[in-house]
Formats: sequence, structure tokens, C-alpha cells
Amino acid sequence: MKNIAILCSGGDVSGMNPAIKHFVEYSLKKGLIPYLVYDGYEGLIDNNIKKATYNDVAGIMIRGGTVIGSARSKRFMQSEFRAQAKRNLDAHNIDMLVVLGGDGSFRGLHTFYKEHGIKFCGVPSTIDNDINGTDYCLGVDTALNIIKVAIDAVRDTAASFRRAFVIETMGRDCGYLALVSHLTSGSELCLIPELPYNLQDYKEEFQKQIKNGRRYFLAIVSEGIKQDAQEIAEWFENEVGIESRVSVLGHIQRGGNPSIYDRLMAYKFVNYAIDGLLGEHDESVICYTKQGFVYRAIDEVAGHIKPLDPELISYLS
Ligand code: ADP
Repeated sequence: MKNIAILCSGGDVSGMNPAIKHFVEYSLKKGLIPYLVYDGYEGLIDNNIKKATYNDVAGIMIRGGTVIGSARSKRFMQSEFRAQAKRNLDAHNIDMLVVLGGDGSFRGLHTFYKEHGIKFCGVPSTIDNDINGTDYCLGVDTALNIIKVAIDAVRDTAASFRRAFVIETMGRDCGYLALVSHLTSGSELCLIPELPYNLQDYKEEFQKQIKNGRRYFLAIVSEGIKQDAQEIAEWFENEVGIESRVSVLGHIQRGGNPSIYDRLMAYKFVNYAIDGLLGEHDESVICYTKQGFVYRAIDEVAGHIKPLDPELISYLS
């Protein structure tokens, strides 16, 4: 029997629990012994590694976050602690890892593989959808659905009070969440880091719309733009002439019951990850592309800026 382990590293996303559940089930189906590593690389170093049973993952499908915890680990950046992690894995006879994480986590794994030969498959997991080489990252769909509910709720109050609402989404330097939310909510303004903007270009048009009876504006702005949401709100008040409010969605975008799409993607990502490890893919990231699932080398994924889909950007102009 071969032993295999799963861990979560970096920011948590909704969809990790469905992935963990399926990891246990699919490993057992393939004749492997599944292990859970708690609290990311910290758990590898501290030997927080436990053999999994069906009971450990029963009922977790509907829960956001991750029941095995995630962490950032400064210690894993140091070779002595990676050596300690290797000794712990050896003690459990584990030489295959599935890691739900982002760019940084995969880079760490690659170093670990080169030093100690622990095979890995990375599953791209971040709501920002900014990992190069994959069109989709686990957690994105649930985040978009949470944002949708928030925007719809804000719209009700905006319309009642004749207000402009500036809604800030996450995404670091990637405007994906803001752009898709804008296109699918019919908001009036969308600002993303990928596109330069000048607010004054919108002033006349917005004032004309108010004269023609518009009661409210919704502006969706990505956290990575050059101004903060408060400054955009002040522009609405001072230049356009409409009372305004700011709504920073923050961490609610990370939580919530995983969407059907994320549950299904979790299932597929894990199948491919385990199949890859049992096949010839010793150090890869499983990516989802227009051609389907592909295994990519770490150098294609980590350390690159992922360009935002030009087709989506073109809808803004
Ligand atoms: P993400 O995986 O979401 O990009 P981070 O960049 O914070 O998140 O990385 C998560 C963890 O991966 C870090 O806390 C660290 O333990 C590990 N890691 C990142 N880069 C390296 C590296 N170059 N070498 C070793 N470990 C790394």
C-alpha cells in the first residue's frame, strides 16, 4: 500500500473541504492510504499528520474554509525545517503530496521536491484567479456568488436612498472578481488595476443620467486600483453630486458554502492530481484550460503574472 497526504497552504478558499473529502474517497478507491496534514507546512514540520478515515471527512462538503486548517509558514522557507518535514513524512511512509494553495505554496513544494524527492501535485486555489497557466482556480465561483448576493443587496438600499455605492472586491493586483461581477450585475462603473482610468471621463455622462432620472449608481472597484474606495466615493459626492457610501466586501468573499461548480471542480482537480502522481507527473500543478485539464511544470505557473482574459477586458471598452 502507498501512502499519500493532502494539505492546504496560504489563503483558504471555499471548495477546499469538497477537495479534502474527495481526496480521501478517491485515494481509498485507488488502494492508497490517505493522510491529512493539519495547518499547512507548519503541520508537516510539527508532525501534525494523521491517517484519514471516512469519519474525518463526513459532512464537510457543504462547509467553506478548510477543516484541516491552512497556514503560512516562515519556517518552511528554511532548509532545516524542510528536512524536519521530510523526516516526519518518512516516519509515515508518505512520498506523495496533494497541495491546495497558490503560487508561493507551489514554489515551496518545488524546492522541497528538489531537496528531498517528495512528489507533489498542486491544485490552484485562490479566489483572486491570478495563478498563471490555469483559467480557473478553486474557490472563484463561490466568491463570485457571494459577491453577487452582496451587490444585489446593496442595490436595494442604493435605489431607496438615491446613492452611489462603491463596492470594493478582493483580487490583489488582478481585476478578475471586479470585472466579472460588473459584467454580471449591470453596475455602472468598474475599475480594475489592468486598465488605466480617469474618473472625470465619466462625470458628464453620470450627471446627465441623474438629470434623466437615475436614482443610484453602483461602482465595483478592485482592491488593487490606484485609489481607495473612499476616494472614489468622495468623487461621486463632490464631482458628480450624489450622496455616496463605501462597502468593502473583505473576507466574506472567502467564506460561504461552496457552490456546485466549486464542488465539481474540487472533485475533478483531485482526481487529476492523484492520477498524475500515480502516473508520470512527479512535480506538477494541475491546471484547467480551454483544452481541459493539463499538468504544468512549476516554472510555467509560479513567478509569472497571469494576464486577465483580453476578451473579458474588451467588454469594458
Ligand atoms: P500562496 O500559496 O497563496 O501564494 P504564500 O505566497 O503566502 O501563499 O505561500 C504560502 C507558503 O508557501 C509560505 O508561507 C511558505 O511556507 C511557502 N513558501 C512560499 N515560497 C516559498 C519558497 N520560495 N520556499 C519555500 N517555501 C515557500
